[in-house]
Amino acid sequence: MTGLVDSHCHLDDSKFDVDREQVIERALAAGVERMMAIGTGDGPPDLETAVRQADRYPFIYATIGVHPHDAAKASSDTFARLRALAAHPKVLAIGEIGLDYHYDFSPRDVQRQVFAAQLEIAGESGKPIVIHTREAWDDTLAVLREKWRGAGIMHCFTGDEQQARQALDLGFHLSFGGVLTFPRAEAVRQAARITPIDQLLVETDCPYLAPVPHRGKRNEPAFVVETVRRLAEIRGCTPSEIAAATTANFDRLCRPGI
Ligand SMILES: [Zn+2]
Ligand SMILES: [Zn+2]
Repeated sequence: MTGLVDSHCHLDDSKFDVDREQVIERALAAGVERMMAIGTGDGPPDLETAVRQADRYPFIYATIGVHPHDAAKASSDTFARLRALAAHPKVLAIGEIGLDYHYDFSPRDVQRQVFAAQLEIAGESGKPIVIHTREAWDDTLAVLREKWRGAGIMHCFTGDEQQARQALDLGFHLSFGGVLTFPRAEAVRQAARITPIDQLLVETDCPYLAPVPHRGKRNEPAFVVETVRRLAEIRGCTPSEIAAATTANFDRLCRPGI
């Protein structure tokens, strides 16, 4: 396979410290031409974990943002810094931002405030957003409907057909990862079946959620090919068609004007 994009990877994760160079080499060898490194890291004050990766390689791009887990660490300094970083030429999106009521690492009202503040920054920047939402679907949609008029990605989409339609109606792209390959994820596969080809993206979310047959191991960008293969099966087309469409979608969404 060639011409793939991993739209969501945590290349800064310490699980890659021993062999990050080889991980990136394997991605290129597997046909992954571009990667979007997610810059949430361990939260503020460090907002540049992905920018540092992007500065080292021409084919790695970055996001910036405060993950809902880390919302309680955000301050006015954080938002000022995010505003400045949003202008970095390799920062393609603001994320992953959103709401996570599964762990509740930060209080829910703080999560909502920090989410809203980052939507404002994203709006000013003109760049799309990458949404993380877990056990907070209705609140996430409510915030987006009220405060967001731009484009975005529902990352690691694991909802059902109805939720997919809600996000698609808002104009969002759905990004599918390893979960799509899990035996019991039939509802997610149904969501992938009904997603218009021009709103489809693929990702690994590595080092988490490795697709079958690597399930349970450390995930890495090269494994995005497994998700692409499965998407092709589900949709009755070829892996190259999925690769071409998801890469074109990524470029249109995140690299307009290229
Ligand atoms: Zn996430
Ligand atoms: Zn992530």
